[in-house]
Amino acid sequence: MDHIRKRRWVRYGHLKCKMYLRNDFQFKCAYCGMREQDTGVQLEDAFEKDHFVAVASKQPLDHDAYDNMVYACSKCNGTKSNMSISLLLDPCKDDIYSGNRPHVQCLGENGYYRVIGNTPEGCQYIKSLKLNAKFYRDMRKQQEQSRKNEEEIKKMVDRLSRIPEFPDNLGKRLQALLQDCFSLLTPDQMDDAYRCGKSKAGQAFQKVLFILQELAIPYELLFDEDDLDIKIQYGEKEYICEIILNDVADSPVRKPRMKREQREKWKEKLINGGILYFYLRIERLELYDMDDENGHVICLKE
Ligand SMILES: [Zn+2]
Repeated sequence: MDHIRKRRWVRYGHLKCKMYLRNDFQFKCAYCGMREQDTGVQLEDAFEKDHFVAVASKQPLDHDAYDNMVYACSKCNGTKSNMSISLLLDPCKDDIYSGNRPHVQCLGENGYYRVIGNTPEGCQYIKSLKLNAKFYRDMRKQQEQSRKNEEEIKKMVDRLSRIPEFPDNLGKRLQALLQDCFSLLTPDQMDDAYRCGKSKAGQAFQKVLFILQELAIPYELLFDEDDLDIKIQYGEKEYICEIILNDVADSPVRKPRMKREQREKWKEKLINGGILYFYLRIERLELYDMDDENGHVICLKE
């Protein structure tokens, strides 16, 4: 399969939904493979949350559940929903572009960046999403060029760094600058700010990280399954936490709630679970220790 969608407890309309999708789908469209950095200045704005099985379909399922969500570019999402088509292939179940026998094959430069189907389902998939339109061929051409540029730059930096008088730190700086200019980052190189992104939830997450930095609380952003967003070290204890956002309250009012099934999953993992509860309007940050029966709350920032 091309993608692994993690088990998450948010739904379509939840603040964190798009941020989770971006990370699970590695910042690219699950249908055509366009990456956020391919779209230039628009970045994540050109991507949307797509219902894999359309809301209008009569299939008996929870259409707004996270496991029916796909990260898609607005082009694919538009084509797919307007035509209310059946795609037959699922990026989270099938090898559409990946594996030994992918359903769809990219032809590269000599084939004018077209794609062809290796199976009847692959052919139908290409036809339904119109994946040989100029828009997509241009995108694949740009991706190819970007890959070539990256290889060339890497070779140049490598050669430069062998010159004895070429300072080591200059080589590293050059690589960082080039990556920045040409958006050559791969998903595992993307920093926390990029992973959080520009959505309301992403901005709030970045504020939480900033507060943790100011308080000298060590952390690691995870975006793990079951909404385990972050690992922090507080006092003697290490907590793996969900970051819960409250974007309405002007004063601390409520205890965080968590779905029973989600809590059960946390217990199965035997983790020391916590909740970082962040009030967006007043920028207050609290820590709840989920193992504390008395529900004491630690206020990290008022
Ligand atoms: Zn797409």
